[in-house]
Amino acid sequence: MTVPFLDLARGAATLAEEIEEAVAAVVASGRFHGGPPVEDFERDFAGLCGVPHAVGVASGTNAITLALVALGIGPGDEVITAANTCVATVSGIVATGARPVLADVDAETLTLHPPGVEDALTARTRAIVAVHLYGQCADAEALAELACARGVELVEDAAHAHGALLRGRPVGSLGRAAAFSFYPTKNLGALGDGGAVVTADEDVAARVRLLRAHGEHPPGNAELRGTASRLDALQAAVLRVKLRRLEEWNERRRALAGLYREALADLPVVLPEEAEHRRHVYHLFVVQVEDRDRVREALAADGIETRVHYPLPVHRQDAYAELDRPGRLGTSERLAQRIVSLPLYPELREDELERTGEALRRALAGRRSIARAGSL
Ligand SMILES: *Cc1c(COP(=O)(O)O)cnc(C)c1O
Repeated sequence: MTVPFLDLARGAATLAEEIEEAVAAVVASGRFHGGPPVEDFERDFAGLCGVPHAVGVASGTNAITLALVALGIGPGDEVITAANTCVATVSGIVATGARPVLADVDAETLTLHPPGVEDALTARTRAIVAVHLYGQCADAEALAELACARGVELVEDAAHAHGALLRGRPVGSLGRAAAFSFYPTKNLGALGDGGAVVTADEDVAARVRLLRAHGEHPPGNAELRGTASRLDALQAAVLRVKLRRLEEWNERRRALAGLYREALADLPVVLPEEAEHRRHVYHLFVVQVEDRDRVREALAADGIETRVHYPLPVHRQDAYAELDRPGRLGTSERLAQRIVSLPLYPELREDELERTGEALRRALAGRRSIARAGSL
């Protein structure tokens, strides 16, 4: 019996009736863009983030682009982000016309930290996009201070972190604006693509509202050069149903992460960093091991599916080789060799988690402890 890395059908099955009702209501309404489903979801989602505005858009990537464009960022500007992120963060920046500049990350939290950002700042830097990687909050307080001191914007890439908290403050409220993705695998996932920009800044929200629909204001006049990036009413209706369960799902993810910690405590693996003041929501449960590829093969032979997020830092991918900053991105490079994502989702059963832990124990038998990536 295989332990699936992720099984979205299990999650959908628990909500099938509510989702079908929500979809049927949209079908009956005859209105498939905007309207109450989108407005209601935007209001509820802004509430989760503790900010007054959420603007639904077509994807998380578009959310990054439109947040930056709404802040006036474009060609000639530089935007700093983490070298170990999902390539979508970078393609979202590139779509604004600005140049992404990759910075290295902290070896404990695996997220951007002030020294890495300082090292990447230039006179052209206009924004920092901090990624709350795997569900762990980036050090947004220190980054906000740095951004403020240098006169640049802090934007959150919160695609992994719906519901995460930093000192009790929700992700989405920690920078000038934040981008969320509702790609189906995320902690809050649609039945297709979706995203949102959230912000406390009314002007930024208003600009994103225009930008997502060709910048038209009033209809017939393009006040801004925008694009087509709306959140479908159908997806918004489904997301609103699922949002009511997010808290319960995140708690379940945290409980499973706790079980993994117990099961793996004496093994030569580096576990995800956990700190009192950061509520990690475990979009992914990523551990570090030596000989990662061999360990993954052994797990696969034992029926345990794993993934790597992400196998190549952005600058080692073909299309972005020019973003390399030789000698400056070492932690991201070392991490990429050692990280492996274990199965973790709200519907994962405890016996499956136990089998994963036992398989990892067999795969690592006889190995000694592993140093953190930063101390290699
Ligand atoms: C998924 C993801 C995105 C982009 O989201 P899409 O909705 O797929 O466009 C951006 N950043 C990170 C870190 C992601 O994981």
